[in-house]
Amino acid sequence: MIIHVDMDAFYASVEQLDDPALAGKPVIVGGTSGRGVVAAASYEARKYGVRSAMPVFQAKKKCPAGIFVPPRRHRYKDVSQAVMAVLHTFTPLVEQISIDEAFLDISGCEAIFGPPREMGLAIKHKVKETVGLNCSVGIAPLKFLAKIASDMNKPDGLTYVAPDAVDDFIAVLPVGKISGVGEKAAHALKKIGISTLGDVKKFPVEKLVSLLGKYGHRLHELAHGIDRSVVAPVRPVKSVSTEETLAADISDKGKLRKYLLKHSEDVGRQLRKKGRRARTVTLKIKYCDFRQVTRQTKLYRPTSASETIFQAAAGLLENFFLHQPVRLIGVGASDLDDPHQATQMTLFADSDTSLEKWEKIGPVVDGIAEKFGPEAITKAGLTDPDKHC
Ligand SMILES: [Mg+2]
Repeated sequence: MIIHVDMDAFYASVEQLDDPALAGKPVIVGGTSGRGVVAAASYEARKYGVRSAMPVFQAKKKCPAGIFVPPRRHRYKDVSQAVMAVLHTFTPLVEQISIDEAFLDISGCEAIFGPPREMGLAIKHKVKETVGLNCSVGIAPLKFLAKIASDMNKPDGLTYVAPDAVDDFIAVLPVGKISGVGEKAAHALKKIGISTLGDVKKFPVEKLVSLLGKYGHRLHELAHGIDRSVVAPVRPVKSVSTEETLAADISDKGKLRKYLLKHSEDVGRQLRKKGRRARTVTLKIKYCDFRQVTRQTKLYRPTSASETIFQAAAGLLENFFLHQPVRLIGVGASDLDDPHQATQMTLFADSDTSLEKWEKIGPVVDGIAEKFGPEAITKAGLTDPDKHC
């Protein structure tokens, strides 16, 4: 089950929130020079026919009483972050698609937040309570329908397309409502007698593909209630890594391990500083002829522990056949956890005790290194050249 949350007249509403004198008035956010375009219009201004992307001079004609305010992008970004933080309190599966819109995958959330409609209401209440703004939500078992639904009862709306209502909903849905179907495509479809998704069903997929290209496949699937797109949380930082060109080329794996240890420490420290954990560890090697190879391994559970990263990187090196002396070596960590996601409980607590120990040691080591310099605390493997060979 997917919820699409869309803030109502976002920029204009922020202006009305910050300046109570603007509440209930036709507020138009946009270039005040008269040459710009409308970035957003409050619902009071929309009554006069003012729309986003309309030239300001035209908006002034349509709504002479309109109050024009210049956009304050930083402020909108701050409010947007506050809204997204609220959404993350419901589920980590939040995909932000614009400054004021996001999808939430709420599958399995019923036990905590109740049935979909209740959860939609709870989201609306919490956004209002925390940020002071209204939003509209659309709830549906398919992503594309959730987005269409959120637009149906704006402002301050809630539309729920229950699973058993999907077929009827799709049958009469105008194709122009689907994001991806532009004016041109809608026109081409109209020419052959397609105006709803129900009409689409009457045509073979080949016909749709000849008309719309690849998108014809997607439209055919949507008409049959299939939407393969999923809610994909955005991960701001995708990876951390460090690498080093060696003073002299090295072909001895034991010596290379020392460098891995050092760089794993660094990668772990970066992760801990960011409060992130990685699921994938990458070993990067550049040979003396500048040929570069990488190897990756997936961890059983995400980590920020330098020791775990080192063990993974060292394991990769172990299985490596070194064709030539190595000129550069590096360690990377990617596939990072969502920063808002709570630490997942491990199912196999007993087998993970050593890992947990390393997770706890990391911050202690970082603290000492910060206070006394990185030389103050060094793993045995770095000082004793034979320890890890
Ligand atoms: Mg919006």
